[in-house]
Amino acid sequence: MSTEFLEQDVRYVKGVGEKRADVWAEQYGVRTVRDLFHFYPRRYLDRSTVTPVGRLREGPDPVTVVGTVQSTSIVPGKNQKRFELILQGEQGGRMKCTWFQGVWWVRKAFEEGDQVAFHGKVEKYGRWFSMTHPDFDTLNDEGAILETGRIVPLYPGGEAMENVGLTSRAVRRILYGLFKEHGLKLSEPLPEWMVETYDLMEGRVALRAIHFPKSQAERAEAERRLKFEELFYIQLLLAQMRRQQEEVTGPAFDAPGEHTHTFVREVLPFELTGAQKRSLRQVIEDTQSGVQMNRLLQGDVGSGKTVVAVAAMMHAYDSGYQSAFMAPTELLAEQHYQNLTEYLRPMGLMPHLLVGGQRKSEREAILKDLAEGRVPVAVGTHALIQEEVEFDNLGLAVVDEQHRFGVAQRAEMFEKGTQPHMLLMTATPIPRSLAMTLYGDLDVSKIDEMPPGRKPVDTRLRAEKRRGEVYAFLRDRLEQGEQAYVVYPLVEESEKMDLKDAESGAADLQEQFPDFAVGLAHGQLPSDQTEQTMQRFKAGEIDLLVATTVIEVGVDVPNATVMMIEHAERFGLSQLHQLRGRVGRSDQQSYCILMAGYKRSQEAKQRLQAMVKTNDGFEISETDLQIRGAGDFFGTRQSGMPDLKIADITEDTGILEDARDAAFALVDRDPHLRADAHRQLRHHYETSYANHGLGFARVG
Ligand code: ADP
Ligand code: MG
Repeated sequence: MSTEFLEQDVRYVKGVGEKRADVWAEQYGVRTVRDLFHFYPRRYLDRSTVTPVGRLREGPDPVTVVGTVQSTSIVPGKNQKRFELILQGEQGGRMKCTWFQGVWWVRKAFEEGDQVAFHGKVEKYGRWFSMTHPDFDTLNDEGAILETGRIVPLYPGGEAMENVGLTSRAVRRILYGLFKEHGLKLSEPLPEWMVETYDLMEGRVALRAIHFPKSQAERAEAERRLKFEELFYIQLLLAQMRRQQEEVTGPAFDAPGEHTHTFVREVLPFELTGAQKRSLRQVIEDTQSGVQMNRLLQGDVGSGKTVVAVAAMMHAYDSGYQSAFMAPTELLAEQHYQNLTEYLRPMGLMPHLLVGGQRKSEREAILKDLAEGRVPVAVGTHALIQEEVEFDNLGLAVVDEQHRFGVAQRAEMFEKGTQPHMLLMTATPIPRSLAMTLYGDLDVSKIDEMPPGRKPVDTRLRAEKRRGEVYAFLRDRLEQGEQAYVVYPLVEESEKMDLKDAESGAADLQEQFPDFAVGLAHGQLPSDQTEQTMQRFKAGEIDLLVATTVIEVGVDVPNATVMMIEHAERFGLSQLHQLRGRVGRSDQQSYCILMAGYKRSQEAKQRLQAMVKTNDGFEISETDLQIRGAGDFFGTRQSGMPDLKIADITEDTGILEDARDAAFALVDRDPHLRADAHRQLRHHYETSYANHGLGFARVG
């Protein structure tokens, strides 16, 4: 059956027209009839979900109320005007709604006597129950629908939509007409076996039910089906990437040889943890298989990922291959270079460092050595495998802090002519659900065990008035010969002020601690100066290092036992956890002190509490994901995360797993979707996903 109508421009749909179409496209990306069918309600109203105004209580969960606008007014305030509205509840009771922003627009949006629905958090001010900036819809004569027991869908709106008359009510009418005209033509894109196996509602039925549900149960089923479908296409893409990768050959390493054994058994002064052994075994298996390895190595800061990577590089060397070790910044590359030098020296090997700012002659000599195979291990930034750098026989590329390289950059790496094995390391443990989506094409090893003897970092939250106490504690530690970090946030918009903060902080501390050496490091200082300061801190010549987040990743100074974070409320949770990972790197008890102002947002409070509660990076990242939501976790654009319209990766993990199963099963059965039973699916996948940011959604 033809599905061309789905590609038609929305402007030709009855009730839309040019002006509305423009706004719809601009605001919500609705361009075609297909988009219109998938313009999902943001909420539903029915009697069971409405709270009578007379029975309102204060609480953190938003509630929905329905009533009549009794009066509206603009109230002058000290700093700004506000708009207030008094709502008369259907069954009695009154409440207030207040807007501080968009005052003139909301004033126009309501008239006395309008029947409206509000959705928001209830607070109590004096005698009044009140909502601030509630989500709202004007119902008017439609309010009566509720009396009939129907469920009323409410659509995404806003000022621009309202201005062209695209209220929830108008959208409902348009969709109603659309279903009447085209509803029966909607075909089922998913193959029958899938619909049956996963017990899914039929596609056409689900679309109708998501817009016009007859019951909450029907709506829930429709939602499950549509979420499944949305997640399924992403997983299909990953399943295909994965399959393509399985066809990419990689160098077949030999069994681990002399250097691998010497490194693990003799150079390292400790035994690998069980988790390190397991990860290394997985890497060794992959690199011997003859298929290119694409493995993500996850583990908290200090869990010993680098050690595993070095062993893997020795394995490459034993097999006659070179390795590249890439860090996100030059500073980190240099630190890795120093560590690697120490690891390799006992075996008579030398890594080479390649970063900007090296003398031309030096650089050229290194490039020549690399190209002629005289360099076993090259350390550098991402530029290492991007630019003109040529290896004689690169066998393994290690990428540190993988999450800083987006998916697009990863794809770029995969495209290199030679196909070295890829070991991607990240200290930001990724929640399972996100890993399945972002890195669903990779194998994953987890180091979920810390080296023995490590004591969990003792984390405390302190307010400004206890600074004296904190300094006394700090002095204690310094007198014991231990070292400390004091970190200041660096927020782009107030960079200058922040730097002044860090600078005056350092001066203050030097005054407070005259018998100790205080150093300062931040991104605005010349990099060799920062480098020198870091080196002196490492060598113990500096006791207290004041820094902005340049030290976020990578620095390894086991004698540092205190991490004091200023304005901790301004840091993200993952960042706080990363910073904390700078201490607790020896068998000494370490401390993390979070200095936070009183002005804390709800989210900031949650972040600080999570830090105090747990040291476990995996738990931290789950919490972070919950606080921020999936889209924001890595930043949608940077990470290549697809925009989801209905599914929520944080919440829909069960559906996600089903969708993943289904996609991988499908690609197993029919990799290029050539079977008759999959033709609809292929068509739908190519037409709706190829153009929606998933540019590589082509099927072989
Ligand atoms: P990561 O790269 O995960 O941050 P590293 O590999 O740099 O961790 O290891 C952190 C510190 O722990 C290093 O000083 C390293 O020598 C030490 N270390 C690593 N593995 C072990 C182990 N199994 N036992 C004891 N110490 C270890
Ligand atoms: Mg590291």
